Amino acid sequence: MNYSRQREVIFDTLARNAVHPTAEKLYEIIKKEQPESNIGIATVYRNLKTLADTGKIKRINGLEDSEHFDHNTHNHYHLICEKCKRVFDIDSDIAPDILKKIEEKTDFRIISHDIVLHGICKDCQQN
Ligand SMILES: [Zn+2]
Ligand SMILES: [Zn+2]
Repeated sequence: MNYSRQREVIFDTLARNAVHPTAEKLYEIIKKEQPESNIGIATVYRNLKTLADTGKIKRINGLEDSEHFDHNTHNHYHLICEKCKRVFDIDSDIAPDILKKIEEKTDFRIISHDIVLHGICKDCQQN
């Protein structure tokens, strides 16, 4: 499998797993789903770095020790389940004027933001 095909597999797997996996988690999924791809963990790390550096995916820092990756580069917020550590997206139109309100209140000019809410997901509440 050539390099660009490997990158495609990594990107597609990330896009299909919308819970914002870490590199390690993504590697496990690829190994299970496409063992024939022969993609090693180092290749996963390297490609995620390139994809994030070129803006094709987003890096989410500060969730846990490892970086999580997000194929969704549009504006959105994150909900993190404290039990299973999955990360869910919530569209930013749920509070469209939050940034404007904060700017008005604080005189801060916001350049970028990363809104994270912590809780317990539906699946974990049922277990
Ligand atoms: Zn959960
Ligand atoms: Zn996201």
